[in-house]
Amino acid sequence: MLNDRIPAAIVVLGTGAIDTARRIQARYPGSLIHGLASRVQGDVAFTELGSHMRELYARNTPIIALCAAGIVIRCLASALAHQLADKTVEPPVLAVAEDGSAVVPLLGGLGGVNVIAREIAAALSVAPAITTSGELRFGTCLLNPPAGYVLADIEHGKRFVSDLLAGAPIRVDGDAPWLDTADLPRAEHANLAIRITPYASEVAGELMIHPRCVVACLTALSSEDSIVERVGETLREHRLAPMSLAAVLAPLSMMASASLAAAAQALDVPLRFGTLPAGFETLGARDDGIMIALSPRPVDPSTLGQARGTLTVIGLGPGSADLMVPAARHALTQADDILGYETYVRMAGPFAPHQVLHCTDNREEMQRARHAFELASEGRNVVVVSSGDPGVFAMAAAVLEALDQARDNKQWTAVGLSIVPGVSAALATAARAGAPLGHDFCMLSLSDNLKPWAVIETRLRHAAQADLVMAFYNPVSRARPWQLDRALDILREQRSGSTLVVLGRNIGRPGETLSTTTLDKLHSSQVDMRTMVIIGSSTTRSFPRTDRDGDWVYTPRWYE
Ligand code: SAH
Repeated sequence: MLNDRIPAAIVVLGTGAIDTARRIQARYPGSLIHGLASRVQGDVAFTELGSHMRELYARNTPIIALCAAGIVIRCLASALAHQLADKTVEPPVLAVAEDGSAVVPLLGGLGGVNVIAREIAAALSVAPAITTSGELRFGTCLLNPPAGYVLADIEHGKRFVSDLLAGAPIRVDGDAPWLDTADLPRAEHANLAIRITPYASEVAGELMIHPRCVVACLTALSSEDSIVERVGETLREHRLAPMSLAAVLAPLSMMASASLAAAAQALDVPLRFGTLPAGFETLGARDDGIMIALSPRPVDPSTLGQARGTLTVIGLGPGSADLMVPAARHALTQADDILGYETYVRMAGPFAPHQVLHCTDNREEMQRARHAFELASEGRNVVVVSSGDPGVFAMAAAVLEALDQARDNKQWTAVGLSIVPGVSAALATAARAGAPLGHDFCMLSLSDNLKPWAVIETRLRHAAQADLVMAFYNPVSRARPWQLDRALDILREQRSGSTLVVLGRNIGRPGETLSTTTLDKLHSSQVDMRTMVIIGSSTTRSFPRTDRDGDWVYTPRWYE
């Protein structure tokens, strides 16, 4: 089913579809508009429709394509040829007319495609084109029970629905509130039955649906294999179906255990930490540290204790969405809280309604880092954003410094911390200009906010002597007006006036400019705080571009 955590790809091929795409996006906040780069601007750009659709499909991303159903079918045909046999692992795929007049569910019946089609159709005020016979006849897809329930055997399910369609009556055994409104041919003593039970049993003529109402509570750690094995064994002992497992619950003290995380992943259930709430029947603690708890209703794992919080420090790249690495985009879609300097937080959107933005001033880095750990230790998924790469004059070092200062804080150290790299401004600017960083280079921040100016001067002198290409970050600001000119004076003592210089301003952002000059002509008035300054080495050279105005600048890989 579509929700904020499984963002759909809304695929558009031209500007004519944008309005409809936005209306669908408003229905599913967190979903992203994928636009054909040459024709339309979306949240994510792609260049070749077929390969892009197949990639989305392979990654199990729900696809809402605003184009002819035939185009979707042609694009996915080769992917489908390999997969049709296994209909259980298929994302929902829909075609929607670009003017919003038709909604056609194509694939992913078990992923709830008809439910999505109904939702989109309602948002667009049209009728969905539902073609699934079971669904039309009974008003619900029996093979797609709601969240909290799972069908035991899909193949068996399909046969069962065929029998029903042939006219056989059925009875419902157990608690299935979603079937109350279904138009089923019920009969008290029918041979066919839908049975809702957490217990494993196989009875011919029964469609088995398991409520996810079992929690495996851990009290002692062991290796990942043995956790998985022991949970399986305990479930078997109690005749419970493995699919009835809703979550693994462990004490807070086990939060940082990697084997536990791997075990929960292998069991394919959420891992929660804390104590078991009231309302469960416990099925006897075993001396191997596993206890099974049973709820009369499906368990929403988010009501059990807390999750292990995560803190992910990401780089957005220089600005445009296509220069953000997919892992950073993924972290953003999973985030509950997003922290950062306001400009960057805005750049990281669009956001879903449940996501909380914490925008702070650029200078409050340590405070922001500590706030991020506080939120993450409550079990939230926290993302701290930087522009470019988070490890280059940005938040990753501040976050690690905060953790280093709080190493005996058990809550903070239990947080799942990771850093996702990004395309740094020097790399983005270099790529636009050609390859000025093609040989040895260094990155220097000219900001003397956190380091003495004398250190900067020494480094500049050494880098100039070593004939390194230099990328200057933070070259000037209103509070630091003279520093760049002073830096250039130092360089001119070592480097010839003809040394090539690349200036990239707002690279990857609206109003991007790129220019090439030489060291003798460079003046601080050409540079501001949104500019990347790349000073070439003695071997950096250029030649005119033929595709457009300007030069290709590069530093050869060899040295004389
Ligand atoms: N972490 C960032 C750098 C932060 S320091 C990164 O890896 O890119 C901020 C400086 O980076 C700015 O003063 C400017 O020199 C440079 N910068 C950041 N984004 C830029 C962009 N889009 N175009 C040009 N320079 C940029």
